[in-house]
Amino acid sequence: MKLVFIGPPASGKGTQAKIISEKLGLAHISTGDLLRNVSDLELKSKIDFYLKKGELVPDEIILNILKKRLLQKDSQKGFILDGFPRTLKQAELLNKEVEVDKFIGIKLSDEEVIKRLASRLTCKKCGAVYNSITNPPKQKGVCDICGSSDLVVREDDKEDSIIERLKIYHKNTEPILKKFHAIIVNGEQEIEKVTEDILKFLDKN
Ligand code: AMP
Repeated sequence: MKLVFIGPPASGKGTQAKIISEKLGLAHISTGDLLRNVSDLELKSKIDFYLKKGELVPDEIILNILKKRLLQKDSQKGFILDGFPRTLKQAELLNKEVEVDKFIGIKLSDEEVIKRLASRLTCKKCGAVYNSITNPPKQKGVCDICGSSDLVVREDDKEDSIIERLKIYHKNTEPILKKFHAIIVNGEQEIEKVTEDILKFLDKN
């Protein structure tokens, strides 16, 4: 099965993509994580220029990285794309390469995005995401997954970048939902309920 999850920052698309990919045995492909984990220093500094401002990385860079990831063995059994496509152009390019089974849109108001991002913490070591109010780590300041105590506010979760990311989402990404007949899920519910709704739509519960 090939799925695409679309939602504004902090909509929980990454969390849901992780839970559902594990349940259904699919590869979870987050383009944001792929970009943050590039090891080539020259390419990394180019990418960071866009990431820090909350702007989209140029298509040629993201497409190159994504194509390589799709060729890896685990992608062959199916995947969830989290963070790609982000523009109609990217959606059309994707549509030419692979047959996506379903586009899933996770809806969240701008107010809720801003509220959630203000309390979002990311583990610098393994990338795990927490919310200090709604989904805190079991032990304050310590990552549940890798035990690191390096939980930080991501550079692009700071206020100026958030506003830019929201603008880009509404202008460039949201139109994909309509064009590709996405199923819409209410992202303002508890994590378990959002998962349940997605699985119901996929006929997998
Ligand atoms: P995310 O982790 O999905 O919130 O993505 C973080 C950042 O990575 C975005 O704000 C963009 O700068 C960049 N990014 C992720 N996916 C894409 C994409 N499909 N196209 C361009 N830039 C992207």
